[in-house]
Amino acid sequence: MKEFVKPRVVVSKCLGFESCRYNGQIISSDEVKEMRDQIDFITVCPESDIGLGVPRDPIRLVRDGEDKKLLQPNTGRDVTLEMKDFCANFLKEHWDVDGFILKGRSPSCGLKETKIYAAIDGPAPVDRCAGFFGDAVLKYQPKKAIETEGRLRNYQIRDHFLTKIYTFSSFRDVKKSKDIDKLKEFHDHNRLLLKSYDEEMYEKLCKVFEEDSGIYDIYEEILYELFNMAPECESKIKIMDELFAGLKSHVEEDEIDFFEASLEEYKEGNTSLNVPLSILYTWVLRAKDPELKNQTFFDPYPRELVRLEDVKTCVVRDYWNF
Ligand code: SF4
Repeated sequence: MKEFVKPRVVVSKCLGFESCRYNGQIISSDEVKEMRDQIDFITVCPESDIGLGVPRDPIRLVRDGEDKKLLQPNTGRDVTLEMKDFCANFLKEHWDVDGFILKGRSPSCGLKETKIYAAIDGPAPVDRCAGFFGDAVLKYQPKKAIETEGRLRNYQIRDHFLTKIYTFSSFRDVKKSKDIDKLKEFHDHNRLLLKSYDEEMYEKLCKVFEEDSGIYDIYEEILYELFNMAPECESKIKIMDELFAGLKSHVEEDEIDFFEASLEEYKEGNTSLNVPLSILYTWVLRAKDPELKNQTFFDPYPRELVRLEDVKTCVVRDYWNF
């Protein structure tokens, strides 16, 4: 059984951890719930952490020229500075995390879709933007895996998020050693996964080992950039085609037909990537190829988190950017 390094992820506390919403309620997120045993969660509730209490009068984002403020309409209180200080201090203290799962649409935790008003008593929102904590996360930790609980309901977003946090946590663990041989091992185990994300960036990573110094820092920079976008399904298909070409001599004709049919179904969006991938993996085991057997391309995160019932369709790349 493959061992994974548990990722460290900052999560909005109201997502199943504590009844800390303005109205004293808690929110249930199936996606967060199923990750709880597999991830080291660090909970945060910026609003209760700056002393607004639970329950509390709601706060809202209000335009302030080019900037924005965080105001409490019922009391007229301005908590902009307290919130900015809190965000800067919290993120400074927790810089070494792999990702964030934040409550969408919150004036504090929201990442893009929070309502902003023209005035403290403005009747209708004039736009949508990130909340204060969400903004700070995007500003200070832009390369980490960052999602809202709502977006994680989408299979591809969740798959990309999990792949990122598990790759980053594994890299974080290897980096502690400062051992270049361990980095090479990490690079080799992730060869196909990295190529499936971005072949050009993968080639850049290979060249880092020719550097005289600063190898870990340069590698880290490129690694984070490589995972900035989710892979297109065509690049995963290309990797599977390459694997298929190398493995088909080990299997029977009807097994080949079965694989080709399942790959077609995946291309058409009628089955999960896990179906053709699992077939290929059984062939890898049969071929007794240790290099391929250890490739994270086959299982980038623990099997407990894999959802076989999900059906994949091709990814629209722009969808990933906040
Ligand atoms: S969205 Fe953020 S600030 Fe609001 S209750 Fe949840 S954790 Fe607290």
